[in-house]
Amino acid sequence: MRKKEKFIPSEEQMALWPDVSGNDLNGLGETKVRRPSPIYWQTPDLTPFGPLMQFFVDHAPRDEDLYKTQMETDRIRETIVEPISDEKVEKTSTEWTKLIKEVGVKSGAVAIGITKMRPEWVIDTFEVPYETVITIGVAMDFENLKTAPEVPSAIEVIKKYGEAHLVSHAIANYIHEQGWNAISYGGSNNVPILLIPPAIESGLGELGKHGSLINRENGSVMRLGALVTDMPLNYDSLDVFGVDDFCLNCKACEKACPPEAIQSDKKMVRGVEKWYVDFDKCLPYFNENTGCGICLAVCPWSHPGVPQNLVKKIAKKKALK
Ligand code: SF4
Ligand code: SF4
Repeated sequence: MRKKEKFIPSEEQMALWPDVSGNDLNGLGETKVRRPSPIYWQTPDLTPFGPLMQFFVDHAPRDEDLYKTQMETDRIRETIVEPISDEKVEKTSTEWTKLIKEVGVKSGAVAIGITKMRPEWVIDTFEVPYETVITIGVAMDFENLKTAPEVPSAIEVIKKYGEAHLVSHAIANYIHEQGWNAISYGGSNNVPILLIPPAIESGLGELGKHGSLINRENGSVMRLGALVTDMPLNYDSLDVFGVDDFCLNCKACEKACPPEAIQSDKKMVRGVEKWYVDFDKCLPYFNENTGCGICLAVCPWSHPGVPQNLVKKIAKKKALK
């Protein structure tokens, strides 16, 4: 990882910065629950930050492996899910849940959670027709992630989003074969729903101070994908194992973040008090540094084998109290 040094964004990037704060668009300080607005989106006219996303794409390092990985992920993303079978198979929600999770695991997921969709998770320019959301997690390679913000880390992120698409497409294909409806969103890039809130609600982990999910097995080294369906499925519950308290006493990501975008206290965002990364500080650095990821690389929960030990230690401490 690069030595932390004061970051000054380029004039070229700042010339594209809109007249609005990304934090305002995100609803920082708003006390009412509302649907999120599109903010960092590849359809430039959907958001005032569209040109900033284009800047990121245009300024990606000229690296052959990065390019090939992006092409492969784009190919996977465009794969068409098979049509819905005319014959609808009936099973109990418990049977379907077991089968869906088996398909997810076979396709490469390390975590799968199911919950009921909430309106405030759907970006306000989109509609989602089915009320069950399946969130999947694929594991990243820490050795690559720890190079953040260098190219190997960016390659790893892009590759894993491709894998998240593969898993979500595989589950959607299976649901279609059984005669039920599903829409596969995959991971990142133009997904019309927030991925972290349903992941938390369905037991995939807790929110860390760095604004990403922390899973009890895979820590912060996981990328998410999602699909929605009308198949009857059982909903999972929250998995609370002590991340919140841990983050209150840890400053690793705060100290390491070059533009100081990570804050030591929680913020009110669209009616929910939570850890929040300052968008206006993070984005310029992210855009000029291959998608950054330093906060994930320095998080103690990212190191292989550590999450399991931390979970045990926190549970032991709690029991003693
Ligand atoms: S991704 Fe954003 S929040 Fe995380 S270290 Fe980089 S600049 Fe900071
Ligand atoms: S680095 Fe520390 S404070 Fe930041 S998310 Fe990880 S555990 Fe929480």
